[in-house]
Amino acid sequence: MTDLAPLIDNLPSLRETVELHGLMAKKALGQNFLLDRNITDKIIRTSLEHQNKQDFRGEYVFEVGPGPGGLTRSVLAHNPECLTVVEMDERCIAIMQEIQQQVGEDKLQIINGDALKQDFTSFSGSPKNVVSNLPYNISVPLLVGWLKEIKHFDSLTLMFQKEVADRICAPAGCKDYGRISILSQLLCKVERLFDINPNCFVPAPKIWSTVILFRPSGLEIDEKTMNNLEKLTTMAFNQRRKMIRQSLKQISDLEKKCAGLDIELTLRAEQITPQQYLQLAKLP
Ligand code: SAM
Repeated sequence: MTDLAPLIDNLPSLRETVELHGLMAKKALGQNFLLDRNITDKIIRTSLEHQNKQDFRGEYVFEVGPGPGGLTRSVLAHNPECLTVVEMDERCIAIMQEIQQQVGEDKLQIINGDALKQDFTSFSGSPKNVVSNLPYNISVPLLVGWLKEIKHFDSLTLMFQKEVADRICAPAGCKDYGRISILSQLLCKVERLFDINPNCFVPAPKIWSTVILFRPSGLEIDEKTMNNLEKLTTMAFNQRRKMIRQSLKQISDLEKKCAGLDIELTLRAEQITPQQYLQLAKLP
């Protein structure tokens, strides 16, 4: 099997590529580029180590927003069966085509489109892994979409603004704990890999970023339970300072249900664990 790493090394450096294409970041597309291969390699290497994998051989990888292609190069250097990139910015599509010429169409597929409109589960190939330095303005909707279909994925290695990462990883009882923590922690084993200094990006954002690895917990939530869970957590966290006796009062037989599950009605939204929310959502 061809080793793609030397082919990637034949490309001009990332910074040269950005200069050659005159690629200036567009704020509207959430563009903060990583032009340091040491960092993009560290993201992929650390994620693979946590998954006890040497590389991506035999696996399919999907990258949202490859931009100038730093993370793309690092994924390809770890020899996936195929990498599919989804990018809205046509200027970056031209850069992807140059990489494709090096590695071949069977190794890099390019989709010029909106990641929010893609059904990643319908793409061929398994096991599937997602890797992305996410556009910050759509990071949560993209994550929620993947979480709801997590049984189709082997891993998600995603970079978020640190504040969003704090919410995802927050345990019950913590001020950052909320709906995205509950959904993430029920459906996945969530591992915070490392933080990245704003100075590593071009242009430098005001805030730090954090890389998180999500792997399926194995729990499957049926559609009805998922709808209940979403309603329940929305009600609870819309009035997060109120006791659930008040915030969840729309639920029929609330007192009886909570007593059966040993959940005190005096608790507030952030004091209820993900498992307790799930138990409540499962009740008829
Ligand atoms: N991966 C590159 C890196 O690390 O240097 C770029 C990351 S930048 C934070 C986000 C990328 O997502 C940009 O290239 C942007 O054009 C792209 N993008 C923004 N919105 C998108 C969307 N809805 N669908 C696909 N790509 C999108």
